[in-house]
Amino acid sequence: VLDKHSNKNSKITDEYRLGKVLGKGAFGTVYLAEDGAKQAFACKSISKAKLITEEDVKDVRREVEVLNLVSDHANVAALQATYEDAQHVHMVLELCRGGELFDRIISKGTFTEKTAAEYFRTMVEVVHHLHQLGVMHRDIKPENFLLTTPGDDAVLKLCDFGLSAYWRPGQKLSSVVGSSYYVSPEVLRRSYSVEADIWSLGVMLYILLSGLPPFWGDTEEDIFRMVLKGETDFKTAPWPSISVAAKDCVRKLLTMDPKLRPTAQQILEHPWLKEQGAAPDRPL
Ligand code: ADP
Ligand code: MG
Repeated sequence: VLDKHSNKNSKITDEYRLGKVLGKGAFGTVYLAEDGAKQAFACKSISKAKLITEEDVKDVRREVEVLNLVSDHANVAALQATYEDAQHVHMVLELCRGGELFDRIISKGTFTEKTAAEYFRTMVEVVHHLHQLGVMHRDIKPENFLLTTPGDDAVLKLCDFGLSAYWRPGQKLSSVVGSSYYVSPEVLRRSYSVEADIWSLGVMLYILLSGLPPFWGDTEEDIFRMVLKGETDFKTAPWPSISVAAKDCVRKLLTMDPKLRPTAQQILEHPWLKEQGAAPDRPL
């Protein structure tokens, strides 16, 4: 599957001891892994038996390639090594033992708009980095932002590049991928580019600030109908107590027309996201 990217001279079990299961996805399992020096990693092991089509194989290859391309960013769960044996492709990744960002926030009870803005800025920065390198993530959602440690020193890391794609200016993609709450109207219309990640960031920010998804429904069709309508509720609690600047930021991210939507770079200039900016230091 991987040819030039895999570690040919050794087996994963020569270098790492695989431990408990950290998570499961469609194609594989993520294990805790320890190297000879007792340093801990995560190992995403993809079962080759589940790679049925040539497209599945290409997706895994692309995931590894993209990880190699973006792993130097401080907020990416970096790829350390790859291995391949008869049954599996293994990706050894930087370990995130702090769980998902949103779970942390919920467990803390309250947090301030300022804290939300700091975390969100990091999310936009890493997406900006990907976009500059010609990569779109296509699965931007809270579950894919993990924290490195359970402590206050935790660093936020983007993970799961399994749906990522290359993009070039002017080029449009058409395959509908991603998770229904976060999917943009242009993805549903099957003609989209990198702006779709910005929409997903908007959905995330809406949830981060209010605890509720902006577009929801009992079925996937209902959710998609809401997305295509694009009406966002800023009237119901807690929105009245959220700053004008925060709402403006969410509104801009959730611009229906992808051509009018701000880029990651432009969003980084938004007053709400600036250091010492417009995000008030009051609990959400
Ligand atoms: P899939 O592409 O199958 O969705 P993911 O890359 O999202 O796989 O990994 C599945 C789960 O494994 C994640 O939701 C998370 O709980 C866990 N996981 C993935 N990467 C790491 C990591 N670097 N550190 C800790 N846990 C991880
Ligand atoms: Mg995943």
